Amino acid sequence: MALTGLEIFKLLPKTNCKKCGMPTCLAFAMALAQKRAKLDDCPDVSQEAKEKLAAAAAPPMRKVAFGSGESQVAVGQETVVFRHEEKFHNPTVVGVTVSDKLAGGDLKKRIEAINALQFERVGTKIAVKAIAVVNDSGQVSNFAQAAETVKKASGLALILVSDSAEAMAAAVAKTKETVPLLASAKAETAEAMAKIAKEVNCPLVAKADSIEHLADLSEKIKAQGVEDIVLNLEASNLREKLYNLSRMRVLSLRKVFRPLGYPVISFGTGAPNQKRFGADQQIATAVSLICKYSSIVVVDTVEPYAFLPTLTAVMNIFSDPQKPVQVEPKVYPIGEPNENSPFMFTTNFSLTYYTVESDVEASRIPSYILVVDTEGTSVLTAYSGDKLNEKTVSEAMAKHNVDKLVKHRKLIIPGYVAVMSGKLEEATNWNVMVGPRESSMIPKFLQEVWKYK
Ligand code: SF4
Repeated sequence: MALTGLEIFKLLPKTNCKKCGMPTCLAFAMALAQKRAKLDDCPDVSQEAKEKLAAAAAPPMRKVAFGSGESQVAVGQETVVFRHEEKFHNPTVVGVTVSDKLAGGDLKKRIEAINALQFERVGTKIAVKAIAVVNDSGQVSNFAQAAETVKKASGLALILVSDSAEAMAAAVAKTKETVPLLASAKAETAEAMAKIAKEVNCPLVAKADSIEHLADLSEKIKAQGVEDIVLNLEASNLREKLYNLSRMRVLSLRKVFRPLGYPVISFGTGAPNQKRFGADQQIATAVSLICKYSSIVVVDTVEPYAFLPTLTAVMNIFSDPQKPVQVEPKVYPIGEPNENSPFMFTTNFSLTYYTVESDVEASRIPSYILVVDTEGTSVLTAYSGDKLNEKTVSEAMAKHNVDKLVKHRKLIIPGYVAVMSGKLEEATNWNVMVGPRESSMIPKFLQEVWKYK
């Protein structure tokens, strides 16, 4: 938990020497508490005070990374229980299982199917980012072999799933350069698993069936020198799981209970020792686990339809609630427009732009859309907030040299801002054509009004 100015003051030399640029140690302490100063600015602070201040300043949830190079992913380091309090920082990593019972062509096919789970949504690429090799066979050599095959055939971050320390050691020996996440250590295997994780500097999952056991286990693993820990809370049903994950979140972030201050991994494949869920149930479970509060969610379906809601949930929950999703302000050609094509503008609120874009596409008339920077607000909001006016539109037109794109001087504007027409004509010297209010009417407008303009 962050220290107050007075608590920080107690740790300072209290000589008021001014070397930090502040008139007194108390002023420096207050500035430090408000993050307006750095501890390094005081040359006389003791090592003990430095350590105490650093420990207090550490985030309540540790950031844990696994994978290497471009496949590296980072989870955790969250600071708030609810998204609206600030924002969530590191998006949930969605992973898919590969059983070590598969071999040859079946294994290759499975890996290819997982690698292909990538989509584009409102201009953003969303994808499965981890691949979890599961020691279903119970065999050491099968597990190590499957892990090595996956390493070679997939660029995704690797999770090794086995309760056997012997199998884990064998698989780690084949894959350690990719920094896999090792899942999982239980109370009885904690020592052996921690030894493996420490040797290769890989993060380790602690798995237990209650919050209390999980806290004890993470302490035990940490005491063995493993700092990067991920928590896996087993539960017999989803209700119990979500309830306890919420309690863990509050304990780690609000109470700064360090033994639970780690990201969480959850498996959406079904409760332990129970029949595996079908694809639909796995996805419903995965979305619930993303909402409450799993940093990594692993499923075992490869049905593409199942990943759209899952990855969309991640995208939505981890976007900044105070910052609308935006597209880059520029001119977008739709189809292959030429100098006679329609020219229109809209705002850079992602949802607005992609709605307009799909309706222009539906018209089958190649067009240009100028996206004006309105800080991610929709047409009416931008107009009422004075972010969309004759000045912002004419400046955007000049910036993007739209004069060179079309030889006509006709600008189609959204029907909701028809009131801008006069001032816009004056500012741009273009003729304004008032388009429809609703984007869905754009195809009809282009086909019936633009064509015969
Ligand atoms: Fe106090 Fe350190 Fe600043 Fe000197 S440099 S006034 S000791 S905080």
